[in-house]
Amino acid sequence: MMNTHQMMLVAGTAAAIIIIIGGAIYYSGKDDGDGSDTVKVVATFYPLAYFSKEIGGEYVDVASLVPYNTEIHSWQPSAMDIVAADKADILVYNGGGADHWFERDILPVLGSRERIVVNTTEDMELLTVEYEGHEIVDPHTWICPFTAEQQAEKIYRALVKKDGAHEAYYTHRWESLREAFEKMDQSYAEGLQNTRKDTIFVTHTAFGYLAHRYGFAQYGVIGLSADEQPSTSTIKKLVDMMIEYDTYVIYVDPIYSDEYAQTLKNTLEEKTGRDVTILVLYLMLGPVDGMDYFDQQEKNLENLIQGLEAP
Ligand SMILES: [Zn+2]
Repeated sequence: MMNTHQMMLVAGTAAAIIIIIGGAIYYSGKDDGDGSDTVKVVATFYPLAYFSKEIGGEYVDVASLVPYNTEIHSWQPSAMDIVAADKADILVYNGGGADHWFERDILPVLGSRERIVVNTTEDMELLTVEYEGHEIVDPHTWICPFTAEQQAEKIYRALVKKDGAHEAYYTHRWESLREAFEKMDQSYAEGLQNTRKDTIFVTHTAFGYLAHRYGFAQYGVIGLSADEQPSTSTIKKLVDMMIEYDTYVIYVDPIYSDEYAQTLKNTLEEKTGRDVTILVLYLMLGPVDGMDYFDQQEKNLENLIQGLEAP
């Protein structure tokens, strides 16, 4: 028996296929005399769209499937999203399970139009974490400048392959982007040297790549998928750990509810009489308060320096 969600998806997919067939005919007829050399890039979510635009500049037209500052793990594409993806020259996704719906609901139903599909974490060494007795992949690669750079390089290669006429332009812009990543990586490495603390407490455990590269550990109220409900025993365990680690800072991302962080804060304050600080760590899922991807990287570093008590 299909549930309502599955039936809606089947109906939506059927509608999308019909639109795709119609659209393909229309576009192939139009392309001949058009002469437009803009590469259409459709990315699954913000950082990938941001990297694509940084590298592609004026020769690309970039769209993001997930609206900015929206939770990505449990997002569901609509029929119109599938149509948008079908029109792309280059499709960019994170992989590693972050945007698992792309491989499951979008890729299999696309028309036969020629396109490049970029899994930005392909062949990368991905971290795993133990969860309820089995190892699961941590997909939050875009949050760490070191791993994000490797993802952006795949987008650069796809652009050169698709549009070789502008290779010099893309290469020039890629070099500047790479420099920005490397500077950021260096700032993190230097900023987080010899910190007094080595553990952070977060709501959603999305900072594994930062923790791995710059030498700290993370514990979270909710796990990797961000749509779990924490139990009272989880909260209690974290409170005990925070006391053990002598840590009174909790990190949250503003796009999520801070309900769990507040519960944690109140419980910890009641139990210890200490003041607990809540600081922001951005998941970088869209521009926030005029801050783009790199501005948010910088703010994250600043707050980590504070919470980990760097000298
Ligand atoms: Zn996440």
